[in-house]
Parts: sequence; structure tokens; C-alpha cells
Amino acid sequence: EQPVLELVDLVAGYRTRHGLLGKRGLVRAVDGVNLTVGAGETVCLVGESGCGKSTVARAVVNLLRPVSGEVRFAGRSLAGMDRRELRAMRREVQLVFQDPYASLNPRMTVRELITEAWRIHPGIVPRERWDAEVAELLERVGLNPAHAARYPHQFSGGQRQRICIARALSVRPRLIVCDEAVSALDVSIQAQILALLGKLRDELGVAYLFITHDLGVVRHFADRVAVMHLGKIVETGETEQIYSSPAHPYTQALISAAPSVDDWRDRGDDEIMLRGDVPSPSNPPAGCRFHTRCWKADERCHTDEPALEQRGVGHPVACHYASVDTGLKAETRPR
Ligand code: SF4
Ligand code: MG
Repeated sequence: EQPVLELVDLVAGYRTRHGLLGKRGLVRAVDGVNLTVGAGETVCLVGESGCGKSTVARAVVNLLRPVSGEVRFAGRSLAGMDRRELRAMRREVQLVFQDPYASLNPRMTVRELITEAWRIHPGIVPRERWDAEVAELLERVGLNPAHAARYPHQFSGGQRQRICIARALSVRPRLIVCDEAVSALDVSIQAQILALLGKLRDELGVAYLFITHDLGVVRHFADRVAVMHLGKIVETGETEQIYSSPAHPYTQALISAAPSVDDWRDRGDDEIMLRGDVPSPSNPPAGCRFHTRCWKADERCHTDEPALEQRGVGHPVACHYASVDTGLKAETRPR
């Protein structure tokens, strides 16, 4: 089956007037990313803030034109689509943000928020079906259909995110890009929203590109995890593979620091404290971009950029000294 989404050598970023050297320049926030999301698959893109995750999201929904490389939706490159195809694509790929309040017009009722897209894209739902469909959508996301006439401020944060999800679903998307969609919510509400997204995946076959800084969140939700650091993917694998045998030092650090992931401490490994600040994407370190913070770095890492290489089936890792388990305890102690 054809993947819903393919990123091929994607380079994207933003122009600055005052770069680090006082020059105008292009910050390559995303610098050569390859990633595939299959139909109905959930792929989690994880990394610290500033690693380029949101830039990926914006390129995927065509809010940002790539510098080079390609975004393919259902096998077609966005760059090659005409206006009609782009309109169709904008319907089939929906974006859910971190802050549901900011993305919901406070002057519109829930019913208006949900039917807005049907007004813009006639032909999805005939007008005489609107009330029934609104009620069905609200029920599907766990909201009371009788509350369709209420305004966003009359709901809690978690309920508002459910409204955003109902609105995204109203156009019958094939892919939902969630950019820190649960990050602002309490842990128990996070779990409820994730359970809801999982239910919708099973019922409707929708795929997710789930973007988060918190590896603890997606353990039981993602099929695959891609770890992003300073514009590049440094490790990809099946979710269990990533949690049980993270091979890149950066992934190991993220997992050891995720409060809700117990494997690491259960095995007796120490939490890894990364030294130093995240380097600026406008001036990434030479060699391995992680070398300024990596406890395993040696001379080679300062000059030689590691390529993504398979360390197991479907488990590419970009590190000269990637280790798939054993001996982590001694290795991972920060110096
Ligand atoms: Fe660390 Fe070197 Fe591996 Fe980069 S290549 S992650 S600096 S050991
Ligand atoms: Mg972001």
C-alpha cells in the first residue's frame, strides 16, 4: 500500500536578517529529512524544542515551501500539484496544534467551528445532514452533542482539544499532523486524548504524524518513533525497539529523562544529564551535530558526520559509536 506521506531529503527553514555572523542567511531548520508515514500508521517525531519538528509540520501542510527535497502526499509531490489538487490535499491533511484555545475562534460556536470547512469545501456533507453529522462527530470525540451551541470558553482545555479533533475529522482526513497536541494538558487528560486518537485511528484508519518533545507520552500510541536533533533524524525504529534498545546517545538521553518511562531506571541505568545548551540551528556544530553534548564524542565526531546506518531491521542510527544495548550503564554515565 502506498504511504500517505513521504518526506524525501527535505530541507526547509527560514531566512534571517541577522545570522550569528551578522549576515543574512538561511537557517536550515530541517536539513535533509527522510520519513515515511504509512496508511493508518502513527509515527512520532520527537526532539527538543528548536530541533525543526514544527518546521517539518509546516512543510507537510504546505504552509512552508521546502528549500529542496520533496513532500509527497499519497505518492504525489506537493510541488507538482495544481491548485485543485492542493485544495484536496489541504482537506486530507489536517493539523492539530498545542494550544486549542488559540486555534478556535472564540466568537464561533462549536457547531460553526465544525461546519466551517463544509462551507469552504462544499460536497463533503450536504447541508441537510449538518446537524446530524455535528452530533455524530461530537459524540465520536466524547463531547455532549447538546453542547454544539456553546462557545470555546465554556469548555475545559481537554474538551477544547476534542473540539479541534472533531473539526479536523469533519473533513475526513487521511493524515492528522499533531504538533505538541497534548503537551499543554494535564497528564490524565493527555492519556484521554491519546486514547481518543487511538480509537479514531482504529475506527477511521486515519494516520498520524505525532510531534512531541516528550518521549514519555507516545509509548503506547506510536507504531514508530523518529528522533530528531538539530534538523536531522538521528534514529528511527519501531516504538518498542526505541524504548528497549535506544542506540543513539541522544535518544538514550531523552528516554532516561522522560519521567514516565521506567525501563531505563528499572535496568539500573543512570539518568543522563546532557551538558551545555542546544546549539543554534543557524550555526550547527561541524562533524556530528551532537558532539558538543555527547559523552561518547571523540576526535572523529568533531569532524566526521555520521550517516544514518541500519543497526537492525528498520532501525537506522546516525552515530559512529551507536550501541544497541549492553554495557549502557558504564557508557552512559556523564563525565
Ligand atoms: Fe556522540 Fe560521536 Fe555518536 Fe555523535 S557520532 S552521537 S558525537 S558518539
Ligand atoms: Mg515546535
